[in-house]
Amino acid sequence: MNIQEIIKEKPYLQSPLEFYERIRNFTDECKRQKKTIQLDSDMELIDIVLKNFSMTFQIPYESILFLKEEILKSGINPIKEPTTLWSFPLHTEGLSKEEIERILFIISKPFFVFLNKNEMESFMETGKCPVCGIDSSLAMISINNEKIMICPLCENMGSFFRIGCPYCFNKDSTKIEILLDEEEVRAELCLECNTYIKSFRETHFIKYKDPFLIDIVSLPLDIVVQKRGYIRRGPNIIGIKMIN
Ligand SMILES: [Zn+2]
Ligand SMILES: [Zn+2]
Repeated sequence: MNIQEIIKEKPYLQSPLEFYERIRNFTDECKRQKKTIQLDSDMELIDIVLKNFSMTFQIPYESILFLKEEILKSGINPIKEPTTLWSFPLHTEGLSKEEIERILFIISKPFFVFLNKNEMESFMETGKCPVCGIDSSLAMISINNEKIMICPLCENMGSFFRIGCPYCFNKDSTKIEILLDEEEVRAELCLECNTYIKSFRETHFIKYKDPFLIDIVSLPLDIVVQKRGYIRRGPNIIGIKMIN
């Protein structure tokens, strides 16, 4: 199913779905330009990303140019190490911590895509994504009944304990409660630390062919679970954790 078809079926999801479509277009366009534009230096990729960000999200380029200056001044290299951009200590008047986090999340993504890593690195050790270090709140249960965590930022997919909370490592099935939505996307609630993740079966994946789309389509489940006081630690693909 493509995004426009889903919007027709679920008009209440129009806004997050369209936002997701923009993020996809933004990332794809950055990728395309990297391939087709002759660059004098890798650092020009920063311009490509910021210009596309400005165009896709209709933010005046001049108003985000300071980001480039800050990046250059700090000496980080997002091309070699996109994680440094994602965790960049940016302070801007007029923007909340959440807004800054969200902007950094979105503009870091193309840099991870540029690296073009397709490894499957396990989440077993820390519960976080071993590539970029952020929490993930989305998993697929494979046909072999294995749990594959999916990172919303660098898109690494790696195994984790079938029953277990990636935040506190509680593996006691009596302390994990499962809620299902009408499409059988599951919220796995950890009664130990109040964290939840969402998981879906590989058979469900066949319908959408995109784990991040499944995450957006099941937003109503996040609302129900968060109303009960459970916390989503990892953002979804549009950079949001708290859904209200
Ligand atoms: Zn990652
Ligand atoms: Zn937990």
